[in-house]
Amino acid sequence: MHSSVKSYDLVCLGGGSAGFNAARVAHGLAKTVAIVDGARDLGGLCILRGCMPSKTLLWSAEVLHLAQKGRTFGLRIPHAAADLKALHARKKKIIGEFADHRVRQLESGSYDLYRSRAHFVDPHTVELADRTLLRGKRFIVATGSRVSVPPVPGLAETPFWTSDDVLDLDRTPRSVIVLGGGIVACELAQFLNRIGSRVVLIQRSPHILRDHSPAAGAVVQQAFRDEGIELFTDTRIAHVAGDARGVSVTFEDRVAGRRVVRRGRHLFNALGREPNTAGLALVAAGVKITPEGRVAVNRWQQTSQPHIYAGGDVCGPHDIVHLAVAQGELAARHAFGVKDIRPLDYSLLLNVVFTDPQLATIGALASELAKRHQPFLSASYPFNDHGKSILMDANYGYVKVVAEPRRGRILGAEIVGHDAGELIHCFSGPLALRATVFDLLRAPWYHPTLAEIITYPLEEIAARIG
Ligand SMILES: Cc1cc2nc3c(=O)[nH]c(=O)nc-3n(C[C@H](O)[C@H](O)[C@H](O)COP(=O)(O)OP(=O)(O)OC[C@H]3O[C@@H](n4cnc5c(N)ncnc54)[C@H](O)[C@@H]3O)c2cc1C
Repeated sequence: MHSSVKSYDLVCLGGGSAGFNAARVAHGLAKTVAIVDGARDLGGLCILRGCMPSKTLLWSAEVLHLAQKGRTFGLRIPHAAADLKALHARKKKIIGEFADHRVRQLESGSYDLYRSRAHFVDPHTVELADRTLLRGKRFIVATGSRVSVPPVPGLAETPFWTSDDVLDLDRTPRSVIVLGGGIVACELAQFLNRIGSRVVLIQRSPHILRDHSPAAGAVVQQAFRDEGIELFTDTRIAHVAGDARGVSVTFEDRVAGRRVVRRGRHLFNALGREPNTAGLALVAAGVKITPEGRVAVNRWQQTSQPHIYAGGDVCGPHDIVHLAVAQGELAARHAFGVKDIRPLDYSLLLNVVFTDPQLATIGALASELAKRHQPFLSASYPFNDHGKSILMDANYGYVKVVAEPRRGRILGAEIVGHDAGELIHCFSGPLALRATVFDLLRAPWYHPTLAEIITYPLEEIAARIG
Protein backbone atom coordinates (compact mmCIF):
# COMPACT_ATOMS: atom_id res chain seq x y z
CA MET A 1 0.00 0.00 0.00
CA HIS A 2 1.27 3.47 -0.83
CA SER A 3 0.86 5.98 1.98
CA SER A 4 -0.04 8.92 -0.28
CA VAL A 5 0.12 10.30 -3.81
CA LYS A 6 0.97 13.94 -4.51
CA SER A 7 1.11 15.75 -7.86
CA TYR A 8 3.40 18.58 -8.97
CA ASP A 9 4.29 20.57 -12.06
CA LEU A 10 7.97 19.79 -11.40
CA VAL A 11 9.66 17.12 -9.29
CA CYS A 12 13.39 17.72 -8.71
CA LEU A 13 15.42 14.65 -7.78
CA GLY A 14 18.31 16.22 -5.88
CA GLY A 15 18.46 19.60 -4.19
CA GLY A 16 22.05 20.52 -5.08
CA SER A 17 23.16 23.19 -7.56
CA ALA A 18 21.25 21.86 -10.59
CA GLY A 19 18.13 20.65 -8.77
CA PHE A 20 17.73 23.67 -6.51
CA ASN A 21 18.14 26.15 -9.36
CA ALA A 22 15.64 24.29 -11.53
CA ALA A 23 13.22 24.45 -8.59
CA ARG A 24 13.89 28.16 -8.02
CA VAL A 25 13.16 29.03 -11.67
CA ALA A 26 10.02 26.86 -11.78
CA HIS A 27 8.72 28.46 -8.57
CA GLY A 28 9.35 31.88 -10.17
CA LEU A 29 7.12 30.75 -13.03
CA ALA A 30 4.34 30.00 -10.52
CA LYS A 31 4.67 26.22 -10.83
CA THR A 32 4.20 23.73 -8.00
CA VAL A 33 7.53 22.14 -7.15
CA ALA A 34 8.72 19.17 -5.08
CA ILE A 35 12.39 18.78 -4.18
CA VAL A 36 13.45 15.29 -3.12
CA ASP A 37 16.87 14.93 -1.52
CA GLY A 38 18.10 11.87 0.35
CA ALA A 39 21.22 13.43 1.89
CA ARG A 40 21.78 13.45 5.65
CA ASP A 41 22.89 17.10 5.32
CA LEU A 42 21.23 19.37 2.79
CA GLY A 43 23.28 21.76 0.66
CA GLY A 44 24.71 19.73 -2.22
CA LEU A 45 28.27 18.88 -3.15
CA CYS A 46 29.55 22.38 -3.93
CA ILE A 47 28.67 23.77 -0.51
CA LEU A 48 29.24 20.72 1.68
CA ARG A 49 32.06 18.68 0.18
CA GLY A 50 33.23 20.38 -3.03
CA CYS A 51 34.05 23.91 -4.15
CA MET A 52 33.56 25.83 -0.91
CA PRO A 53 35.31 23.66 1.69
CA SER A 54 38.20 22.92 -0.67
CA LYS A 55 38.73 26.58 -1.51
CA THR A 56 38.52 27.55 2.18
CA LEU A 57 41.33 25.13 3.00
CA LEU A 58 43.40 26.00 -0.07
CA TRP A 59 43.27 29.67 0.83
CA SER A 60 44.61 28.93 4.33
CA ALA A 61 47.36 26.80 2.80
CA GLU A 62 48.30 29.60 0.42
CA VAL A 63 48.51 32.15 3.26
CA LEU A 64 50.68 29.67 5.16
CA HIS A 65 52.92 29.16 2.14
CA LEU A 66 53.42 32.91 1.76
CA ALA A 67 54.17 33.27 5.47
CA GLN A 68 56.72 30.46 5.27
CA LYS A 69 58.55 32.19 2.45
CA GLY A 70 58.45 35.50 4.37
CA ARG A 71 62.21 35.95 3.96
CA THR A 72 61.66 36.31 0.20
CA PHE A 73 59.65 39.44 0.96
CA GLY A 74 62.04 40.79 3.59
CA LEU A 75 59.87 39.61 6.48
CA ARG A 76 60.80 37.77 9.65
CA ILE A 77 57.98 35.34 10.44
CA PRO A 78 59.68 32.94 12.84
CA HIS A 79 57.26 30.04 12.90
CA ALA A 80 54.32 29.76 10.54
CA ALA A 81 52.52 26.43 10.80
CA ALA A 82 49.08 24.98 10.19
CA ASP A 83 46.78 24.51 13.18
CA LEU A 84 44.52 21.82 11.77
CA LYS A 85 42.00 22.00 14.60
CA ALA A 86 41.53 25.74 13.99
CA LEU A 87 41.54 25.29 10.21
CA HIS A 88 38.90 22.61 10.50
CA ALA A 89 36.77 24.75 12.82
CA ARG A 90 36.99 27.74 10.45
CA LYS A 91 35.98 25.60 7.49
CA LYS A 92 33.05 24.10 9.42
CA LYS A 93 31.80 27.53 10.45
CA ILE A 94 32.00 28.99 6.93
CA ILE A 95 30.44 25.95 5.28
CA GLY A 96 27.80 25.77 8.00
CA GLU A 97 26.71 29.31 7.18
CA PHE A 98 26.49 28.61 3.45
CA ALA A 99 24.58 25.38 4.09
CA ASP A 100 22.19 27.08 6.55
CA HIS A 101 21.38 29.66 3.91
CA ARG A 102 20.60 26.91 1.37
CA VAL A 103 18.51 25.00 3.92
CA ARG A 104 16.50 28.16 4.65
CA GLN A 105 15.86 28.54 0.91
CA LEU A 106 14.80 24.88 0.62
CA GLU A 107 12.54 25.14 3.65
CA SER A 108 11.15 28.57 2.72
CA GLY A 109 7.76 27.11 1.83
CA SER A 110 8.26 27.83 -1.87
CA TYR A 111 8.72 24.10 -2.45
CA ASP A 112 7.59 20.85 -0.89
CA LEU A 113 10.80 19.33 0.45
CA TYR A 114 11.04 15.55 0.87
CA ARG A 115 14.05 14.27 2.82
CA SER A 116 14.23 10.89 1.11
CA ARG A 117 15.82 8.99 -1.72
CA ALA A 118 13.57 8.42 -4.71
CA HIS A 119 13.31 6.08 -7.65
CA PHE A 120 11.09 5.97 -10.71
CA VAL A 121 8.23 3.52 -10.83
CA ASP A 122 7.01 4.75 -14.23
CA PRO A 123 7.79 7.74 -16.48
CA HIS A 124 5.49 10.05 -14.50
CA THR A 125 5.94 8.76 -10.92
CA VAL A 126 8.70 8.44 -8.34
CA GLU A 127 8.49 6.56 -5.08
CA LEU A 128 10.05 7.73 -1.82
CA ALA A 129 11.45 5.56 0.96
CA ASP A 130 8.19 5.76 2.94
CA ARG A 131 6.34 4.65 -0.22
CA THR A 132 4.86 8.08 -0.89
CA LEU A 133 4.32 8.51 -4.61
CA LEU A 134 5.07 11.81 -6.34
CA ARG A 135 3.60 12.38 -9.75
CA GLY A 136 5.11 15.08 -11.95
CA LYS A 137 4.25 16.75 -15.23
CA ARG A 138 7.98 17.40 -15.53
CA PHE A 139 11.02 15.99 -13.70
CA ILE A 140 14.65 16.94 -13.40
CA VAL A 141 17.20 14.30 -12.48
CA ALA A 142 19.92 16.21 -10.63
CA THR A 143 21.43 13.57 -8.38
CA GLY A 144 25.07 14.56 -8.86
CA SER A 145 28.08 12.27 -8.75
CA ARG A 146 30.02 10.05 -6.38
CA VAL A 147 33.62 8.90 -6.02
CA SER A 148 34.43 6.04 -8.37
CA VAL A 149 36.59 3.07 -7.52
CA PRO A 150 38.30 2.05 -10.78
CA PRO A 151 39.48 -1.56 -11.18
CA VAL A 152 42.99 -0.96 -9.80
CA PRO A 153 44.25 -4.26 -8.36
CA GLY A 154 43.82 -4.21 -4.57
CA LEU A 155 42.12 -0.80 -4.39
CA ALA A 156 38.65 -2.02 -3.43
CA GLU A 157 40.13 -4.10 -0.56
CA THR A 158 42.39 -1.31 0.76
CA PRO A 159 41.05 1.38 3.09
CA PHE A 160 41.28 4.73 1.30
CA TRP A 161 40.32 8.33 1.78
CA THR A 162 38.12 10.24 -0.64
CA SER A 163 38.05 14.01 -1.01
CA ASP A 164 35.34 14.02 1.71
CA ASP A 165 37.88 12.66 4.21
CA VAL A 166 40.66 15.05 3.20
CA LEU A 167 38.31 18.02 3.47
CA ASP A 168 37.32 16.90 6.96
CA LEU A 169 40.82 16.46 8.46
CA ASP A 170 41.40 17.97 11.87
CA ARG A 171 45.03 16.88 12.15
CA THR A 172 47.96 16.78 9.76
CA PRO A 173 48.53 13.26 8.41
CA ARG A 174 52.16 12.16 8.40
CA SER A 175 52.11 10.92 4.81
CA VAL A 176 49.59 10.45 2.04
CA ILE A 177 49.78 8.69 -1.31
CA VAL A 178 47.50 10.39 -3.83
CA LEU A 179 46.20 8.29 -6.72
CA GLY A 180 45.24 10.49 -9.67
CA GLY A 181 46.31 13.75 -11.23
CA GLY A 182 43.00 15.47 -11.97
CA ILE A 183 41.74 18.71 -10.45
CA VAL A 184 40.66 17.32 -7.08
CA ALA A 185 43.84 15.23 -6.76
CA CYS A 186 46.12 18.16 -7.53
CA GLU A 187 44.33 20.78 -5.43
CA LEU A 188 44.20 18.57 -2.35
CA ALA A 189 47.69 17.08 -2.82
CA GLN A 190 49.11 20.59 -2.65
CA PHE A 191 46.95 21.38 0.39
CA LEU A 192 48.25 18.27 2.19
CA ASN A 193 51.83 19.05 1.28
CA ARG A 194 51.55 22.64 2.43
CA ILE A 195 50.08 21.74 5.82
CA GLY A 196 53.06 19.44 6.40
CA SER A 197 52.23 15.95 5.13
CA ARG A 198 54.70 14.01 3.02
CA VAL A 199 52.87 13.61 -0.30
CA VAL A 200 53.44 11.21 -3.17
CA LEU A 201 51.24 11.75 -6.22
CA ILE A 202 50.93 8.96 -8.78
CA GLN A 203 49.35 9.78 -12.13
CA ARG A 204 48.74 7.44 -15.05
CA SER A 205 48.89 10.00 -17.91
CA PRO A 206 52.13 11.60 -19.13
CA HIS A 207 51.28 14.82 -17.30
CA ILE A 208 48.98 15.91 -14.49
CA LEU A 209 45.74 17.78 -15.30
CA ARG A 210 45.49 15.86 -18.56
CA ASP A 211 42.42 17.77 -19.74
CA HIS A 212 44.69 20.79 -20.07
CA SER A 213 47.65 21.43 -22.36
CA PRO A 214 50.93 19.61 -21.59
CA ALA A 215 52.63 23.02 -21.27
CA ALA A 216 50.17 24.17 -18.60
CA GLY A 217 50.37 20.83 -16.76
CA ALA A 218 54.19 21.04 -16.85
CA VAL A 219 54.17 24.39 -15.03
CA VAL A 220 52.01 23.06 -12.18
CA GLN A 221 54.11 19.90 -12.10
CA GLN A 222 57.30 21.96 -11.72
CA ALA A 223 55.74 24.02 -8.91
CA PHE A 224 54.67 20.82 -7.12
CA ARG A 225 58.15 19.34 -7.36
CA ASP A 226 59.74 22.60 -6.21
CA GLU A 227 57.49 22.47 -3.12
CA GLY A 228 58.53 18.91 -2.34
CA ILE A 229 55.68 16.76 -3.64
CA GLU A 230 57.06 13.49 -5.01
CA LEU A 231 55.29 13.26 -8.33
CA PHE A 232 55.21 10.34 -10.76
CA THR A 233 53.58 10.65 -14.18
CA ASP A 234 53.16 8.08 -16.95
CA THR A 235 52.70 5.18 -14.55
CA ARG A 236 50.77 1.95 -14.43
CA ILE A 237 49.64 0.85 -11.00
CA ALA A 238 50.33 -2.85 -10.48
CA HIS A 239 48.98 -3.26 -6.97
CA VAL A 240 47.65 -1.43 -3.93
CA ALA A 241 47.76 -3.02 -0.48
CA GLY A 242 47.18 -1.98 3.11
CA ASP A 243 47.88 -3.18 6.64
CA ALA A 244 47.76 -1.76 10.15
CA ARG A 245 50.83 0.43 9.50
CA GLY A 246 49.59 2.01 6.29
CA VAL A 247 49.43 1.43 2.55
CA SER A 248 51.79 0.55 -0.25
CA VAL A 249 51.44 1.20 -3.96
CA THR A 250 53.48 -0.72 -6.49
CA PHE A 251 53.64 0.79 -9.94
CA GLU A 252 55.57 0.88 -13.15
CA ASP A 253 57.32 4.21 -13.68
CA ARG A 254 57.33 4.32 -17.47
CA VAL A 255 59.49 7.46 -17.57
CA ALA A 256 62.35 5.79 -15.68
CA GLY A 257 61.47 2.30 -16.97
CA ARG A 258 61.42 0.68 -13.51
CA ARG A 259 59.08 -0.77 -10.93
CA VAL A 260 58.60 1.45 -7.88
CA VAL A 261 57.03 0.87 -4.47
CA ARG A 262 55.89 3.76 -2.30
CA ARG A 263 54.56 3.42 1.24
CA GLY A 264 52.48 5.92 3.15
CA ARG A 265 50.25 6.21 6.18
CA HIS A 266 47.13 6.96 4.12
CA LEU A 267 45.85 6.45 0.60
CA PHE A 268 43.77 9.14 -1.12
CA ASN A 269 41.70 7.79 -4.00
CA ALA A 270 41.32 10.79 -6.31
CA LEU A 271 40.88 8.78 -9.49
CA GLY A 272 37.61 10.40 -10.42
CA ARG A 273 33.87 10.55 -9.93
CA GLU A 274 30.93 8.87 -11.66
CA PRO A 275 27.32 9.95 -12.20
CA ASN A 276 24.96 9.12 -9.37
CA THR A 277 22.35 7.05 -11.24
CA ALA A 278 22.34 3.90 -9.10
CA GLY A 279 19.02 3.27 -7.40
CA LEU A 280 17.05 5.73 -9.54
CA ALA A 281 15.50 2.96 -11.66
CA LEU A 282 15.88 5.10 -14.77
CA VAL A 283 14.92 2.07 -16.86
CA ALA A 284 11.41 2.22 -15.36
CA ALA A 285 11.16 5.79 -16.66
CA GLY A 286 12.63 4.97 -20.07
CA VAL A 287 15.56 7.33 -19.53
CA LYS A 288 18.68 6.42 -21.52
CA ILE A 289 22.28 6.46 -20.31
CA THR A 290 25.37 7.24 -22.45
CA PRO A 291 28.13 4.62 -22.83
CA GLU A 292 30.10 6.65 -20.21
CA GLY A 293 27.25 6.18 -17.73
CA ARG A 294 25.88 9.73 -17.78
CA VAL A 295 22.20 10.51 -18.29
CA ALA A 296 21.91 11.35 -22.00
CA VAL A 297 20.46 14.81 -22.67
CA ASN A 298 19.84 17.06 -25.68
CA ARG A 299 20.74 20.75 -25.85
CA TRP A 300 17.68 21.67 -23.75
CA GLN A 301 18.65 19.14 -21.02
CA GLN A 302 15.82 16.79 -22.04
CA THR A 303 16.51 13.10 -21.61
CA SER A 304 15.20 10.39 -23.91
CA GLN A 305 11.85 11.08 -22.20
CA PRO A 306 11.05 14.67 -23.25
CA HIS A 307 9.27 15.53 -19.96
CA ILE A 308 12.23 14.29 -17.87
CA TYR A 309 15.20 16.64 -17.79
CA ALA A 310 18.66 16.21 -16.25
CA GLY A 311 21.27 18.69 -15.05
CA GLY A 312 24.63 18.82 -13.27
CA ASP A 313 27.19 16.08 -12.73
CA VAL A 314 24.68 13.32 -13.47
CA CYS A 315 24.66 14.32 -17.14
CA GLY A 316 27.80 16.43 -17.56
CA PRO A 317 29.57 16.99 -19.89
CA HIS A 318 31.66 18.89 -17.30
CA ASP A 319 31.51 18.62 -13.51
CA ILE A 320 31.53 22.36 -12.94
CA VAL A 321 29.12 24.12 -10.65
CA HIS A 322 28.21 27.19 -12.71
CA LEU A 323 27.23 24.78 -15.50
CA ALA A 324 25.10 22.71 -13.12
CA VAL A 325 23.28 25.91 -12.12
CA ALA A 326 22.84 27.01 -15.73
CA GLN A 327 21.62 23.56 -16.81
CA GLY A 328 19.05 23.47 -14.00
CA GLU A 329 17.78 26.93 -14.91
CA LEU A 330 17.64 26.10 -18.63
CA ALA A 331 15.79 22.84 -17.98
CA ALA A 332 13.09 24.60 -15.94
CA ARG A 333 12.67 27.40 -18.48
CA HIS A 334 12.39 24.95 -21.36
CA ALA A 335 10.06 22.66 -19.42
CA PHE A 336 7.58 25.46 -18.87
CA GLY A 337 7.74 27.08 -22.29
CA VAL A 338 9.72 30.26 -21.55
CA LYS A 339 10.30 32.06 -24.86
CA ASP A 340 13.62 33.24 -26.32
CA ILE A 341 15.87 30.87 -24.43
CA ARG A 342 19.15 29.58 -25.81
CA PRO A 343 21.02 26.34 -25.25
CA LEU A 344 24.25 26.59 -23.24
CA ASP A 345 27.26 27.65 -25.28
CA TYR A 346 30.04 25.22 -24.40
CA SER A 347 32.43 27.00 -26.77
CA LEU A 348 32.77 29.54 -23.93
CA LEU A 349 33.80 26.82 -21.50
CA LEU A 350 35.48 28.33 -18.46
CA ASN A 351 37.68 26.11 -16.34
CA VAL A 352 39.72 26.85 -13.22
CA VAL A 353 42.13 24.67 -11.27
CA PHE A 354 42.83 26.14 -7.82
CA THR A 355 46.36 24.89 -7.46
CA ASP A 356 49.10 27.45 -6.87
CA PRO A 357 49.93 28.50 -9.56
CA GLN A 358 46.33 28.34 -10.70
CA LEU A 359 45.43 27.12 -14.16
CA ALA A 360 42.50 28.64 -16.00
CA THR A 361 41.19 28.39 -19.53
CA ILE A 362 38.32 29.80 -21.51
CA GLY A 363 37.09 29.02 -25.00
CA ALA A 364 39.23 27.11 -27.46
CA LEU A 365 42.73 25.86 -26.78
CA ALA A 366 45.37 26.06 -29.53
CA SER A 367 45.56 22.25 -29.65
CA GLU A 368 41.80 21.93 -30.31
CA LEU A 369 41.93 24.49 -33.12
CA ALA A 370 44.92 22.73 -34.67
CA LYS A 371 43.08 19.41 -34.50
CA ARG A 372 40.07 20.99 -36.25
CA HIS A 373 42.41 22.53 -38.88
CA GLN A 374 40.95 25.90 -37.94
CA PRO A 375 43.38 28.75 -38.65
CA PHE A 376 44.42 30.85 -35.63
CA LEU A 377 47.12 33.13 -34.30
CA SER A 378 48.51 32.65 -30.81
CA ALA A 379 50.84 34.56 -28.57
CA SER A 380 51.95 34.11 -24.99
CA TYR A 381 53.85 35.98 -22.32
CA PRO A 382 55.57 34.64 -19.18
CA PHE A 383 54.89 35.89 -15.65
CA ASN A 384 58.63 35.86 -14.86
CA ASP A 385 59.05 38.85 -17.17
CA HIS A 386 56.17 40.91 -15.80
CA GLY A 387 56.61 43.68 -13.23
CA LYS A 388 53.74 42.92 -10.84
CA SER A 389 54.33 39.17 -10.73
CA ILE A 390 58.09 39.66 -10.23
CA LEU A 391 57.51 41.93 -7.21
CA MET A 392 55.06 39.33 -5.83
CA ASP A 393 57.56 36.51 -6.47
CA ALA A 394 54.79 34.86 -8.50
CA ASN A 395 56.95 33.82 -11.41
CA TYR A 396 55.44 30.53 -12.54
CA GLY A 397 53.45 30.36 -15.74
CA TYR A 398 52.25 32.41 -18.66
CA VAL A 399 49.26 33.92 -20.42
CA LYS A 400 48.39 32.59 -23.86
CA VAL A 401 45.78 34.03 -26.20
CA VAL A 402 44.42 32.48 -29.39
CA ALA A 403 42.60 34.57 -31.96
CA GLU A 404 41.09 34.29 -35.39
CA PRO A 405 43.79 35.41 -37.90
CA ARG A 406 41.86 37.87 -40.09
CA ARG A 407 39.98 40.19 -37.72
CA GLY A 408 41.60 39.07 -34.48
CA ARG A 409 38.44 37.80 -32.78
CA ILE A 410 39.51 36.18 -29.52
CA LEU A 411 38.84 32.45 -29.57
CA GLY A 412 40.33 31.41 -26.24
CA ALA A 413 42.87 32.02 -23.52
CA GLU A 414 44.97 29.92 -21.18
CA ILE A 415 46.52 31.34 -18.02
CA VAL A 416 48.81 29.51 -15.63
CA GLY A 417 49.94 31.69 -12.79
CA HIS A 418 49.05 33.51 -9.62
CA ASP A 419 45.30 34.20 -9.46
CA ALA A 420 44.76 32.82 -12.97
CA GLY A 421 41.21 31.96 -11.88
CA GLU A 422 40.51 35.67 -11.40
CA LEU A 423 42.51 36.88 -14.40
CA ILE A 424 40.74 34.56 -16.85
CA HIS A 425 37.61 36.62 -16.28
CA CYS A 426 39.31 39.44 -18.24
CA PHE A 427 38.37 37.25 -21.21
CA SER A 428 34.93 35.94 -20.32
CA GLY A 429 32.98 39.12 -21.14
CA PRO A 430 35.00 39.80 -24.32
CA LEU A 431 34.56 36.19 -25.50
CA ALA A 432 30.83 36.26 -24.90
CA LEU A 433 30.64 39.55 -26.81
CA ARG A 434 32.83 38.17 -29.62
CA ALA A 435 35.44 40.90 -29.06
CA THR A 436 38.69 41.18 -31.02
CA VAL A 437 42.21 41.77 -29.71
CA PHE A 438 41.81 45.36 -30.97
CA ASP A 439 38.66 45.82 -28.84
CA LEU A 440 40.48 44.62 -25.75
CA LEU A 441 43.46 46.86 -26.41
CA ARG A 442 41.14 49.88 -26.42
CA ALA A 443 40.22 49.07 -22.79
CA PRO A 444 42.25 50.74 -20.01
CA TRP A 445 44.72 48.51 -18.11
CA TYR A 446 45.98 49.79 -14.76
CA HIS A 447 49.69 49.62 -13.89
CA PRO A 448 51.11 47.74 -12.06
CA THR A 449 48.59 44.88 -12.03
CA LEU A 450 48.77 41.21 -12.86
CA ALA A 451 45.96 41.78 -15.37
CA GLU A 452 47.97 44.12 -17.59
CA ILE A 453 50.17 41.16 -18.62
CA ILE A 454 47.31 40.26 -20.93
CA THR A 455 48.07 43.24 -23.14
CA TYR A 456 51.40 41.73 -24.30
CA PRO A 457 50.00 38.73 -26.19
CA LEU A 458 47.12 40.91 -27.41
CA GLU A 459 49.61 43.44 -28.82
CA GLU A 460 51.64 40.70 -30.46
CA ILE A 461 48.60 39.28 -32.23
CA ALA A 462 47.42 42.79 -33.22
CA ALA A 463 50.84 43.56 -34.71
CA ARG A 464 50.81 40.33 -36.70
CA ILE A 465 47.38 41.13 -38.15
CA GLY A 466 48.64 44.62 -38.97
C1 LIG B 1 36.53 18.27 -3.86
C2 LIG B 1 35.72 18.93 -4.94
C3 LIG B 1 35.98 20.26 -5.28
C4 LIG B 1 35.25 20.88 -6.28
N1 LIG B 1 35.56 22.18 -6.59
C5 LIG B 1 34.88 22.80 -7.57
C6 LIG B 1 35.17 24.16 -7.91
O1 LIG B 1 36.04 24.79 -7.32
N2 LIG B 1 34.46 24.74 -8.90
C7 LIG B 1 33.49 24.06 -9.60
O2 LIG B 1 32.88 24.63 -10.52
N3 LIG B 1 33.18 22.78 -9.29
C8 LIG B 1 33.85 22.13 -8.30
N4 LIG B 1 33.51 20.85 -7.98
C9 LIG B 1 32.39 20.19 -8.71
C10 LIG B 1 31.03 20.71 -8.22
O3 LIG B 1 30.98 20.61 -6.81
C11 LIG B 1 29.91 19.88 -8.86
O4 LIG B 1 30.03 19.97 -10.27
C12 LIG B 1 28.51 20.39 -8.47
O5 LIG B 1 28.41 20.60 -7.09
C13 LIG B 1 27.46 19.36 -8.93
O6 LIG B 1 26.15 19.81 -8.60
P1 LIG B 1 24.90 18.83 -8.82
O7 LIG B 1 23.69 19.65 -8.60
O8 LIG B 1 25.05 18.11 -10.10
O9 LIG B 1 25.04 17.71 -7.70
P2 LIG B 1 24.98 17.78 -6.10
O10 LIG B 1 25.25 19.14 -5.59
O11 LIG B 1 25.86 16.66 -5.64
O12 LIG B 1 23.47 17.44 -5.75
C14 LIG B 1 22.94 16.17 -5.90
C15 LIG B 1 21.95 15.92 -4.78
O13 LIG B 1 21.17 14.77 -5.12
C16 LIG B 1 20.90 14.03 -3.96
N5 LIG B 1 20.59 12.64 -4.38
C17 LIG B 1 21.41 11.73 -4.97
N6 LIG B 1 20.73 10.62 -5.27
C18 LIG B 1 19.46 10.80 -4.86
C19 LIG B 1 18.27 10.02 -4.91
N7 LIG B 1 18.23 8.79 -5.45
N8 LIG B 1 17.13 10.53 -4.39
C20 LIG B 1 17.13 11.77 -3.85
N9 LIG B 1 18.21 12.57 -3.79
C21 LIG B 1 19.36 12.10 -4.30
C22 LIG B 1 22.16 14.17 -3.13
O14 LIG B 1 21.88 13.97 -1.77
C23 LIG B 1 22.61 15.60 -3.44
O15 LIG B 1 22.19 16.53 -2.47
C24 LIG B 1 34.22 20.18 -6.96
C25 LIG B 1 33.94 18.85 -6.62
C26 LIG B 1 34.67 18.22 -5.62
C27 LIG B 1 34.36 16.80 -5.27
